[in-house]
Amino acid sequence: LASRDFHPENTVISIKGVNIGGGELVIMGGPCAVESAAQIDEIAGLVKAAGAQVLRGGAFKPRTGPYSFQGTGVEGLIMMAEAGQKHDLLTITEVMTPEYVDICAEYADILQVGTRNMQNFDLLRKLGTCGKPVLLKRGFSSTYDEFLNAAEYILAGGNPNVMLCERGIRTFETYTRNTLDLSAIPVLQQLSHLPVISDPSHGTGRRELVVPMTKASVAAGADGLIIEMHTDPDNSMTGDGVQSLFPDQFSDLLKDLEILAPAV
Ligand code: PEP
Ligand code: MN
Repeated sequence: LASRDFHPENTVISIKGVNIGGGELVIMGGPCAVESAAQIDEIAGLVKAAGAQVLRGGAFKPRTGPYSFQGTGVEGLIMMAEAGQKHDLLTITEVMTPEYVDICAEYADILQVGTRNMQNFDLLRKLGTCGKPVLLKRGFSSTYDEFLNAAEYILAGGNPNVMLCERGIRTFETYTRNTLDLSAIPVLQQLSHLPVISDPSHGTGRRELVVPMTKASVAAGADGLIIEMHTDPDNSMTGDGVQSLFPDQFSDLLKDLEILAPAV
């Protein structure tokens, strides 16, 4: 179902007037984690003012260590839904377990599967019937074939609205957090009809690389970007402040992108 051989036309995912995969560049921006109602509200206002269409923010955070901040949970979901509504933005949030799919689907417009859960097959099966579009992140050590098979689980469950997200893979390089695999963008678009989104924030782990790698992703043909932005990155509650853009950088970047990819 994910293969272009069986579905030559691009899949276009339409959510409340935003079309993903239809030629328009879709920008998702926001903090790594929803920290408080005031934080997500302020950032949502800045995301909207910059011209992005989707507010990102994790309520359930997949942390490497069990003692790290694990997210604000259902309260965070509610805070983010309110901020999205108030600022007229779609919302995307990560869901980590099958039990939480229904509640995340109730509050968010798009459900995100994190890199660590790309092969959580019970989660993928549950997302097949959740009724909401899914952004599936590539596992950081997964091949394109494994990635497309993971997408296939969701599609086979009856959900045609899947986006593929390249978020960097593990290589021998340690300077960057991951290596953003730009080739994934055209490869996945050739192999599949699903929209391809690039995540230069997790793909590099370094703020100063997010702008150039965003532009490189657009040049490579990405259908959209998911970018971390924070008003106070040095005090963010996850370690992802170091890769989060400041609001001014985010808004300047979006202005530059209009030049790179004029609206169609
Ligand atoms: C995130 O988007 O904040 C996140 C945890 O992403 P990934 O699953 O790519 O690490
Ligand atoms: Mn993050």
